[in-house]
Amino acid sequence: MSVIRQKVKFDKKLLDQDALKILKKLIESGYESYLVGGCIRDILLGHKPKDFDIATSATPEQIHKLFKRSRIIGRRFKLVHIMFSARKFIEVATFRAGKVKTSGDGLVLRDNYYGTLKDDVFRRDFTVNGLYYDINKSEVIDYVGGLKDLEILKINMIGNPSERFEEDPVRMIRAVRFQAKLNATIEPKLIKDIQKNAKLLSNIPPARLYEEVIKLFHNEDSIKTFRELAKLGLLQHLFSQTEENAFVSAALINTSERIKNGNSVTPAFLFAVFLWSAVNKRLSQISKKNKSRIELMLQASEDVIKQQTQQVMMPRWLSSRVKDIWLMQYQFENYNPKKSQALIRNPRFRMAYDFLVLRSESIDKDLKAKAEYWTNIQK
Ligand code: ATP
Ligand code: MG
Repeated sequence: MSVIRQKVKFDKKLLDQDALKILKKLIESGYESYLVGGCIRDILLGHKPKDFDIATSATPEQIHKLFKRSRIIGRRFKLVHIMFSARKFIEVATFRAGKVKTSGDGLVLRDNYYGTLKDDVFRRDFTVNGLYYDINKSEVIDYVGGLKDLEILKINMIGNPSERFEEDPVRMIRAVRFQAKLNATIEPKLIKDIQKNAKLLSNIPPARLYEEVIKLFHNEDSIKTFRELAKLGLLQHLFSQTEENAFVSAALINTSERIKNGNSVTPAFLFAVFLWSAVNKRLSQISKKNKSRIELMLQASEDVIKQQTQQVMMPRWLSSRVKDIWLMQYQFENYNPKKSQALIRNPRFRMAYDFLVLRSESIDKDLKAKAEYWTNIQK
């Protein structure tokens, strides 16, 4: 496909001023530089981008020299973060070329060949994510038909899908995430390729999947994403112990509502919900001899969490919060009125209480009266 350069109009307020400053400085210093990827996709759809990425011909060292408050980071490949505050940075990446080299188990080994803009395009995942924006000419540069796919809302892979999924299986869950986020459709051929390659997800290190999982469900379309993951056979490689039920769907809808309303969300809640039926199942299997209810719950929790972390990592703070939520359910259900106030003061009370209420509204309707007790006692 030949390159398309198209003048585009959009609300300039959607552009990030700090990203523009970086671009100007790079260009003045003689480096070819563009805004790229998700931010252009979102802007063309009229959405405010979550973050802004810059691609440039400058090497990480050259970028670092130009910007005082920058640092080179090198997890999968060398990138530069330019800091604007404790929480805000903008990522600048040098154009890259060549295939990602991975070991047999899917770990990225080498990925640091520099290239041209054109090389860089073909390493990106989907056509809608492969657009570059030239600020001087106000033009989008499109080598892959991304502008058209954005117009018809199609998720299409750049290059051969099976090869690209083998190179990086995380692209399969990204396809599902963007489908939900953009309200787009995935090419039928791509759907087949995902179903065929779904098992490759088990090669991805659990730590990387943890970050991806948060992005999958902490958004406004999490139930749609969940169902699509299940349909395409991806969910079982992320949460093998989880199936949709009324509690799971209520929690996903609840999470999306909270995000829409600008309330905070924590992955502990969703992990606790996703694994709740597995914990109860485990509880019914383990030997009850000489053990208190708390000990049994702890053991079941450990077992279920251990199995989960083979697929998706759970940092210690997260598993500990999840366990607290579960343990407190027992305390809520078998409360001693004299100890209720102490439980309310527990820093995890709120989360565990929300969990109880959601249970009582979905899978455990017989808990309604107990949930009400805990609602009233806070007044
Ligand atoms: P969002 O930020 O809304 O989650 P995004 O498209 O910006 O979506 P990022 O993870 O921020 O996603 O990545 C930025 C860009 O980097 C993408 O648009 C894409 O061009 C490229 N990219 C990211 N991950 C991959 C990948 N696994 N394979 C190929 N290209 C990728
Ligand atoms: Mg992004």
